[in-house]
Amino acid sequence: MDRLSDRTRLIAAATQRGKGRRPVNPPLERASTLLSDRVADMRDDSLGPVYGIEGTASQNALRAAVADLEGGAQCWLTPSGLAAVTLPILALTRPGDEVVTTDALYGPVRRFLTRHLATRGVTTRFHVPEATVNEIMATATERTRLILIESPASLTFEMTDVSALAVAARARGLLTVMDNSWAAGLAFKPLAHGVDVSVQALTKYAGGHSDLLLGSICAKDPGVATSVAATIEDLGICVSPDDAWLALRGLRTLTLRYAEQARSALKVATWLADRPEVARVLHPALPSDPGNAIWGRDYSGAASILGVVMKGGDPKAAEDFLEALSLFGLGYSWGGFESLGTFETPQLAFRSTPPGLEGPLLRLHIGLEDPADLIADLEQGLRAWRALQDSNLRPSA
Ligand SMILES: *Cc1c(COP(=O)(O)O)cnc(C)c1O
Repeated sequence: MDRLSDRTRLIAAATQRGKGRRPVNPPLERASTLLSDRVADMRDDSLGPVYGIEGTASQNALRAAVADLEGGAQCWLTPSGLAAVTLPILALTRPGDEVVTTDALYGPVRRFLTRHLATRGVTTRFHVPEATVNEIMATATERTRLILIESPASLTFEMTDVSALAVAARARGLLTVMDNSWAAGLAFKPLAHGVDVSVQALTKYAGGHSDLLLGSICAKDPGVATSVAATIEDLGICVSPDDAWLALRGLRTLTLRYAEQARSALKVATWLADRPEVARVLHPALPSDPGNAIWGRDYSGAASILGVVMKGGDPKAAEDFLEALSLFGLGYSWGGFESLGTFETPQLAFRSTPPGLEGPLLRLHIGLEDPADLIADLEQGLRAWRALQDSNLRPSA
């Protein structure tokens, strides 16, 4: 189905002919044990799995769909997006090796690198989030084995020139692993740009309904694939058939939700960027964003998350702003159908070099609500923020 768009492929995969009369969707098979008719059949791989850890119908259908989406020859599932990032790093590094990555890395992955991995002899060198490809390559040393790419990076959304970095890394014999959660496997195809391993938090847009945790790992190179497959097997990594079934259901509407949420997010971002209370909106699809040129060249869409830098003001005012919103839930994660807001300034303290921002940093996730209603809600939230700023400016009696 190479000539079809992702939007069609994600659906057409469910309705292929020649599979006999059946429901549209794969059966939900809950199994640890799978029974065979004969002892000899228990050794015959062609008859399907003999044990649930190998995965049943829904996990296999999801693996095939994500492999197709990412253009990966093989796909493995993990119980969370976090495990999808950490597992290939575990599989592909050895004591004495070094990982190079951005200072704006997703926080829990940073914790894995600096706590788990560092005490087992694999160390990490962080580059500044806005580093060029040459600067990233200059961070690598003789010991560097792997470059972990997150583009756009977490919270501040800096973009990396991934195609150029993949070429430069390969020329030096370094492996590349990219966290592709922001692009949801749709807006950017890391493997087609020369990246060795593309991982995603399926929790976000594939799940799409804030009711499951799941990750995916895709790789084409046979050597890399063998290492990842062996580590999955050795660690006993497996996912629930119910969660896989839900993620597969989510994939059928992924392209529509992703595009609609991106449209709304850009509307909200453009409106916020013009507000006097806001210093900057961090979102690569905004023409004013430093990453806009790379985004425009390489990406066919955008995630619906925005970094909002307030113009001055104390953290308490930023919290009041978020609490004054009635349509934005206060909650982590993104990619679901609902809008969310979080206060992110405390997370920036974990970086080696926290960015110099004009004020507190908030993150908004834009859901499938009417963007006009979201903007009206933000407008009344900003009134609360201004009221607090004004009362702080008034001399106390
Ligand atoms: C959310 C997220 C993850 C982790 O996904 P979970 O399923 O929540 O563990 C990994 N990378 C990025 C960039 C994320 O935003």
